[in-house]
Amino acid sequence: MTAQIYESDTIAAISTAVSESGIGIIRVSGPGAIPAADQIFRTKSGRAVLKEAPTHTIHYGFIEQDGHRIDEVLLSVLRAPRSFTREDTVEINCHGGIYAMHRVLEAVLAQGVRAAEPGEFTRRAFLNGRIDLSEAEAVMDVIRASSEKALSCSMDLLTGRLRRLIEGMRGEILHQAAYIEAALDDPEHYDLDGFEDQLRPMLADWESRMDRLIRTADHGRQIREGIQTVILGRPNAGKSSLMNQLLGEERAIVTEVEGTTRDTISETIHLGEVSLKIIDTAGIRTATDPVEQIGVERALQAAGSADLILYVVDSSAPLDENDSQILSSILEIGCPYLILLNKSDLEAVTGEGQIEELVRKAGRQADGDAGGCVSEIDGLSVMSAPEDVTKDNAATTLDTNIQRMNGSVCRGKPCVVAVSALDGNGMDELTRRLEEMFAQGQISYNDEVMITHERQKLCLVRAREALGRVQESLDNGMPEDFLTIDMSDCCRELGLITGETADEDLIREIFESFCMGK
Ligand code: GDP
Repeated sequence: MTAQIYESDTIAAISTAVSESGIGIIRVSGPGAIPAADQIFRTKSGRAVLKEAPTHTIHYGFIEQDGHRIDEVLLSVLRAPRSFTREDTVEINCHGGIYAMHRVLEAVLAQGVRAAEPGEFTRRAFLNGRIDLSEAEAVMDVIRASSEKALSCSMDLLTGRLRRLIEGMRGEILHQAAYIEAALDDPEHYDLDGFEDQLRPMLADWESRMDRLIRTADHGRQIREGIQTVILGRPNAGKSSLMNQLLGEERAIVTEVEGTTRDTISETIHLGEVSLKIIDTAGIRTATDPVEQIGVERALQAAGSADLILYVVDSSAPLDENDSQILSSILEIGCPYLILLNKSDLEAVTGEGQIEELVRKAGRQADGDAGGCVSEIDGLSVMSAPEDVTKDNAATTLDTNIQRMNGSVCRGKPCVVAVSALDGNGMDELTRRLEEMFAQGQISYNDEVMITHERQKLCLVRAREALGRVQESLDNGMPEDFLTIDMSDCCRELGLITGETADEDLIREIFESFCMGK
């Protein structure tokens, strides 16, 4: 994939945020970048100097148009191929006022330079072989990184760790497929006797490497987007107020009429090390109002696919039937949860004792429904497997439940944090607990290369399926050309991750989601 499929005119865009700031950068890339800049850039003594300027040099001077000085700038010259796009590039560091940036950009465009499309600089970097597709996607992630971990994950991809991993596997599979083809074409010189025994362990190794990568996709998603979090609680418990407190601004509508938060909104917030993508839902109650009912269903639906539930209880009022219903649903879903005893600034009617009792009751009820039982293992309340689970997967179910409940239970008790959504009390403790929960296990903060894009995951899944078909052909003693067909399919899918085998439509689609100036 090289520059020949892409027209190489010269493009320009404002590459920094278009808002008031100290400096703004106009990036110009293409064969006409330096001549165009040379027309409008003058040194203090009025000279044009860029045509002869060596690569990687910075020049002080002024952008001028029609005899008027527009801005005082620092201008960098990067000559092909030693630039991000591998084309001649000029970066103009001007003052960061919105007007100044636009005036400088206009002066550049007046020299016959075209305004860049979103992601076009990165697309050129890809087309000119500077980066692969997974690295291009990482550029976008670095820009949008929502936490330290997301940033380091994207930097990993950007430095090509995923590419090396995928290319390594693809190369090995291609090599074996090529050997089979060669043996089929030229049986005199290439021998397939005993090849099957060599291929089987290799297949197993490729499969386990792919499985490991596919498993990282969910962690990658959590890290990139934040942990999918749902706030549940009966009407008026303070869910919207909590959301606002977390956001630090009034985003959800808070009112004293029960059940006003009818729809759902979502925001990413950062609490210490952890990023949460919070979905605020309508209050759960035994609804009679049809509009309210839709909200309740949405809340439960959202909770069903959540990574974490924050269950808000109004500590200034007694627990009621709604609370036991919500808690039973949470236990049934089996998602990690934290109970927030809200309104701690008011006189407490409901405390930790009542909450523990409620959890025990709801546990027994959920347990009765699921056919398992709640027991204590190492101080953790653990849902054990129902009777009809086979021995083999009973251990796994138990394991999963320990993991799931791990986040929700502190030393044998439900994890309860007293907060006030009104004055912000208890938010530090909430942050500490969340960090603890996630450091302890639900997300592995390790150095593994992670898949962060659904597109990459789908390619891997299809590549893995193709390997499964190779295994099946081996097991059924199919002719060798069956093996090579599926091995080639597998390689094509792996190639789509790095862009090796991607077609132009896919590339366009990926780059269109980039922001301007990148
Ligand atoms: P939701 O229905 O669960 O979303 O509840 P809201 O956030 O709309 O809050 C319901 C009422 O409780 C509002 O009047 C809030 O101002 C009040 N409220 C929420 N959190 C607190 C709190 O921590 N302390 C006090 N005193 N009032 C609160």
